[in-house]
Amino acid sequence: MTDAASDEGFLLAVLNSTPVVDGVPTDEFADSDRARAWLASAGGLGTEAELQQVLEVRQALQAVVRGEQSPDVLAPALRGVTSLPAMMDGQITWTLSAPPERQLAVRAVLTWDTLARHSPGRLRPCANDECRLFLIDHSKANAARWCSMAVCGNRMKARRHYQRIRNMRAE
Ligand SMILES: [Zn+2]
Repeated sequence: MTDAASDEGFLLAVLNSTPVVDGVPTDEFADSDRARAWLASAGGLGTEAELQQVLEVRQALQAVVRGEQSPDVLAPALRGVTSLPAMMDGQITWTLSAPPERQLAVRAVLTWDTLARHSPGRLRPCANDECRLFLIDHSKANAARWCSMAVCGNRMKARRHYQRIRNMRAE
């Protein structure tokens, strides 16, 4: 799985934990032990309750980013979450407070929100409709279409090439 040290890395890893492998949809969090170990390595508690929260938020975020559902479906993840201001060195700093088992889920939702606000459209599904992965496009041109050029980019190019040859033969 990808590096989860940064908030974006964490969000992307969660979104991309249901890849299609050899045409079969899989779930990298299906193995609870492995999933909980990964959540712990991402700064979480590694508990079953935390995993359930992350799974719920993953499903909601995937649907939102695919445009299948309204962001309102993310509201339950934010219930009971507060942000407290404190004065430090002449500046106000905000400290987020969330139920412990929901902190990672909240982190994913807030990172999605930051991206949606500051980089609208940059987080999107891979353009390969047989791929279930997502990408965050940081390029200036904002023209990336594939989760990975090496995987989906080349596959789609090869498919187009094949179709072109087939069309030529059919003429
Ligand atoms: Zn892809």
